[in-house]
Amino acid sequence: MESIMMEAYAKVNLGLDVVRRLENGYHEVRMVMQTVGLHDTLRLEKTKEGIALFTDSSEAPGDEHNLAHKAARIMKERYDIAGGVAIHLQKRIPVAAGMAGGSTDAAAVLKGMNALFALGLSEQELCDVGVCLGADVPYCIIGGTALAEGIGEKLTVLPEAPDCCVLTAKPPISVSTKYVYENLRLSEIEMHPDIDGMVSAVREHNLSGILSRMENVLEHVTEKKYPVITRIKCIMEENGAKKALMSGSGPTVFGIYGSSKEAEKAAEKLSEAEPDAQVFVTAFQRKEQ
Ligand code: ATP
Repeated sequence: MESIMMEAYAKVNLGLDVVRRLENGYHEVRMVMQTVGLHDTLRLEKTKEGIALFTDSSEAPGDEHNLAHKAARIMKERYDIAGGVAIHLQKRIPVAAGMAGGSTDAAAVLKGMNALFALGLSEQELCDVGVCLGADVPYCIIGGTALAEGIGEKLTVLPEAPDCCVLTAKPPISVSTKYVYENLRLSEIEMHPDIDGMVSAVREHNLSGILSRMENVLEHVTEKKYPVITRIKCIMEENGAKKALMSGSGPTVFGIYGSSKEAEKAAEKLSEAEPDAQVFVTAFQRKEQ
């Protein structure tokens, strides 16, 4: 095999809770993660030596700072790969959006190099490498519906959530994850998201149970600073979303719709009202069998 194509899928958080602040400054979280169909495309090609990265994105780094490049480096070093690799990265997932764009590209490189160089690594071994690149990388390797705990790296695979159409919108603002966590007043939160209830609802394939528990504890912090998030949620819900929520630390908002037609219609309204937002109609993505 001389080259391989990989699709790197984005995620949304159906639920996100922060349990406590750890001494090392990280936060212990409990999140229900869901893969959506929106994806970047990567082509990995064997070369004589080194690591080269080419991307069509003006926002993601085009050098060794790109997580896809870092993933290739760690694989090359750890598994003593003699040859080189060229990574052609077509970005479609909005950058710095709360959709794990960089982590999913890294995960795709780990999986792609495993196949390209016939390394024979298990999913667990790839996750062990992935966690060195970022807490979300193991989840991006596994995909589907999962409970993520610890700093996001402790995964419990859940049954696939019921099929859902999804509208995602990223407003043209950059949100610092650091700012959001620093401004989260954990002691003042009276009601935490019901993550255990969400997990049970997923296990029971109970869509209304999932929708009624969709909550993100970081949303209050981000919404307070960026009213555009509230505006997008309102537009989604006024235009048929069963529920709209911010993903991760934002600023992407996603809405759950009953049909792709409804989601398309809402996407039109949203693009009229917020012309600079990056808007996509997608759906929950099934795991490859
Ligand atoms: P998460 O949901 O995991 O917090 P995110 O979706 O908020 O991630 P990314 O799109 O991964 O954020 O971008 C975060 C930062 O990572 C950006 O500032 C970007 O410069 C850098 N980055 C490195 N590699 C990539 C990549 N392959 N794609 C996008 N951003 C990347």
